[in-house]
Formats: sequence, C-alpha cells, structure tokens
Amino acid sequence: MAANEDAFKKVVSHAKEFGFVFPSSEIYDGLSATYDYAQNGVELKNNIKKYWWMSMVQLHEEIVGLDAAIFMHPKTWKASGHVDAFNDPMIDNKDSNKRYRADVLIEEHIAKIEGKINKDITKAKKRFGDAFNEEEFRATNGNVLRRLKEISDIETKMGDALNNDKLDDLQQLIIDLGITCAVSGSKNWTEVKQFNLMFGTELGAVSGDASKIYLRPETAQGIFVNYLNVQKTGRMKIPFGIAQIGKAFRNEIVARQFIFRMREFEQMEMQFFIEPGTQMKWFEYWKETRIKWHKALGLGDENYRFHDHIQLAHYADAATDIEFNFPFGFKELEGIHSRTDFDLKQHEEFSGKKLRYFDPETKENIVPYVLETSIGVDRMFLAVLSKSLKEEQLEDGTERTVLSLPAPLAPIKAAILPLVRKDGLPEKAREILKLLQMEHNCMYEEKDSIGKRYRRQDAIGTPYCIAVDYETLDDNMVTIRDRDTMKQERVAISDLVSIIGKKVSMSNLFQ
Ligand code: ATP
Repeated sequence: MAANEDAFKKVVSHAKEFGFVFPSSEIYDGLSATYDYAQNGVELKNNIKKYWWMSMVQLHEEIVGLDAAIFMHPKTWKASGHVDAFNDPMIDNKDSNKRYRADVLIEEHIAKIEGKINKDITKAKKRFGDAFNEEEFRATNGNVLRRLKEISDIETKMGDALNNDKLDDLQQLIIDLGITCAVSGSKNWTEVKQFNLMFGTELGAVSGDASKIYLRPETAQGIFVNYLNVQKTGRMKIPFGIAQIGKAFRNEIVARQFIFRMREFEQMEMQFFIEPGTQMKWFEYWKETRIKWHKALGLGDENYRFHDHIQLAHYADAATDIEFNFPFGFKELEGIHSRTDFDLKQHEEFSGKKLRYFDPETKENIVPYVLETSIGVDRMFLAVLSKSLKEEQLEDGTERTVLSLPAPLAPIKAAILPLVRKDGLPEKAREILKLLQMEHNCMYEEKDSIGKRYRRQDAIGTPYCIAVDYETLDDNMVTIRDRDTMKQERVAISDLVSIIGKKVSMSNLFQ
C-alpha cells in the first residue's frame, strides 16, 4: 500500500475511533458520502468556524454576518445559472460500469505527469547535492520542459472543451491520453454527458413543477438576494462584505475520499461588494489575507499552493484555488473568485427589482462587483486533522499517537485527572473542573492508569492534562502536562485559568 494511502486510512480510522467523524446512519451500513460529526468532531468543527468568523467578521469592521435559509425561491437558481449550468461532465466505463467525472480523470492524468517531474527533481537533487538549484533545473531541463509543455497542452484542450461545452472533444481527449478505468483497466468509454448537481424537492402538499424547490448548492445566493437589505439596514458603504456559514448540498457524481467530497457539507463564504474596476486589487488582497489565515495554523507553509483556474465558471472573471496537501495529494481547499456583477444583475433581471447601490459621494447608482472567498468547513477539518495526526517515537523506545492540533482548535482544552479514585481526590478534581469549565471546554477522567489517560488525551489533541494527587489536597498545587513536549510542571490551581487561557486563545493565531 502506498505510504500516503496508508496515512489517509489512519486518519479515517482515527477519526472514528476517537469520536471525531462517524459514517452517517452506520447501523444501516451508512449512506454514501454522508458523515456525522461526533463528540470531539463537533468541537473541532465549531472551533474552525469560530476562527473563520473571528477573522472575517469580528476583525473586519466592514464585514457583517448573515444566516439565510437553505430553501430559496426557485427563481434564485434560474437567475444564478445553477438550473442550466451547474453540471459536471460525467463519463462511464462500459466494462466496469464505474462513473467518473471527465475533468477529474484528466486532472489525475496531469497529476501523474507532475509526479514524474517531481521524481526527476528528487533524482537531480540527490545527484547535485547542495549545488542543486531547483528553479534553474525547472527552467532548463529538457525532460521537465517537455512535460510542462505536455501539461499545458492538455490544460488548454480541456479548458476549451469545458468552456465551450464541447463534450465530444472532452471524450476524445480522454481517449487520446490513453486514460484507463482504475477498476477494469480498459479504455472502453461512453460519451461524456452533463449531470446537474442540484438536489430538488417539493414545497408544501401540492406536487408539480410550480412547487419544485432546491436544496442550495452554495450559500452565496442567500447573500446576494439579501445584500441590499443588509446594506441599507447596516448603513454599509462600499467596499463591504457579508459572511455566512451554512450547509450546502450537491449530488456529486463521484463522492469518495471521506469528508473531502460529500453530498451534504458546510461552507464558509464571504461576498465582498466593491466598486467595478477594482476587482483585481481586491482579488490580490483576499488571496493574501486568506493564505495568511491558513498559514497561521502552523500546519506547514509548504502544504499550500495557489492554483489558477483554466476553466472560469460562468460568473467569474478571475479565480484561484488555495490547494492543500491532503494525504491524497494537493487538492482544492478554498476558492477565491472575482464574480463581477453577474449575480446581482441576474437577480435584477429575474426579480424585476433594482439592486443598485447609491454612492453618496458620486451620487450614482451602481451594481457593485463581488469578490468571493469560499471554503468548505469539512475540507478544512480534514486538512487540520490529517496534518496534526502523528506517530512519535519516544526516547524510551515506546511510541505514541498524538494529535498536535493548533491549541485554539482543540476540542478539549484541558483534562482533569485525579491520580486515584478515592481519598477525596475525585472531589478535588471536580472542583478544579468547575473552576476551569467557565472559561474552557474541559473534561474529567478517572478511569485507567494516569499513563493511559495521558495517551488518550494526546490522541484527541488535548493541549493540557492536569493531574490531581495527594499533595494537591494540602498545597493546592497540581501537575500540568504539556501535550507536545510532555513536560510536567507543578503549578498553583489559581494560575490554571490564565496558563490555559494563554495557550488556547484564538488571538494567538492572529499575531
Ligand atoms: P471541486 O472542484 O472540488 O468540486 P468546486 O470548485 O466545485 O470544488 P466551489 O464551488 O468553489 O467548489 O465550492 C467552494 C468550496 O466548498 C470548495 O473549495 C470546497 O472547500 C467546498 N466544497 C465544494 N464541494 C464540496 C463537497 N462536495 N464536499 C465538501 N466540500 C465541498
């Protein structure tokens, strides 16, 4: 088994074993691409949302929040283009009957070529040692240049086929590249068809087209239709933003890779309303702001990269993805899109209502342009979880599994552990729990040896363990153990709130 495949399996099983993520309705053998967040998962997820909300809303005076309904008037989705154009191109292999996304098959082929380039680089690095200059090698090596050209040709062809809805060309490209089905190994492909990703349902008791509504495939439209309400009631001046966290639903063709691609998931989106013509400035600003937010978590700067879109969505004039190095390779974590005035103009047309912003300075009515940042909570969860999970070799020859989560995101901030289950120690420990609980999410645990309890807390990422022993009863001091260094220190109970507070404060992430 490939090393990263193995690492990914470990993440999935750790998530289940330690109460982070369970398959949905597991007693009925689960529902494909649907997951439930368990006792530790919900805490981590809430902390990720809090970190985002704090950076977007709390620390930006020009951005406010919104919580729009999942159901929206069906015309919304006509206006937004989702009814007609929210499709993925799918293709079936005739021998295995497996269904694939045509663009993903081609992207995986490109990733393989990139893999070859990386192999060449690794080899050259070994050969040239310290004298190796990667940039120069990339710019001059014949093999690398040939492969880069190959990638760029494929991307151009794919971009053209996708942008112009040339499905036959897409099929031909898959055939020309000799792409095979992972299951049957054959190149026996059907034609490419478009598949709409929206889930439909019915409103009220009357069935029929008139009452057909959709589960929103993105949260953004709730912001667009409310933008003028918010602008007026909040007396917002351009540029200003509206942020929202909420569920979105997509009937994904191929849903695998755990919580990376689900049919029900959660998005954190922010629409920034700007003056037309300033979109490139704001595009750069939000690229920089968002990548900083990611890197502040300390998961490793080398795990992020930008990937500019070749196929621009129907609404965008510039778009980039922040890709993260997941256990299965670099994949999209967040999108940053310059959406122009497409959405607001469409809603004007379909609703017959003016959605103009009155600029008090120029005395003009304009339709603002929109810069969007859009990130999946679940993908962010997977990014944090997978990079935090570590197997460590200890000095005494033993091993430990530790989840070195950024402390402000940890589900439990401190565990209070009485050394034994008698002689007043549990009571003392519970007293400490009561004290800390007002400030932080803490837990009490008395079962098993203290060593075992430490290990269990390491595995769920608890930054501090607090051991209560006989001396505590006399001197009101406890032993506090740091998850990462495993160092133990004797401190006064009265100092605990501030010691823990310093470590787990969200503000640490903004310094
Ligand atoms: P992909 O190309 O991976 O399908 P996308 O480009 O369709 O993603 P967007 O429409 O830009 O994604 O959605 C914004 C964000 O929402 C993504 O960056 C991702 O984090 C998240 N997201 C999208 N689809 C899913 C899904 N099926 N499951 C989990 N998260 C998702």
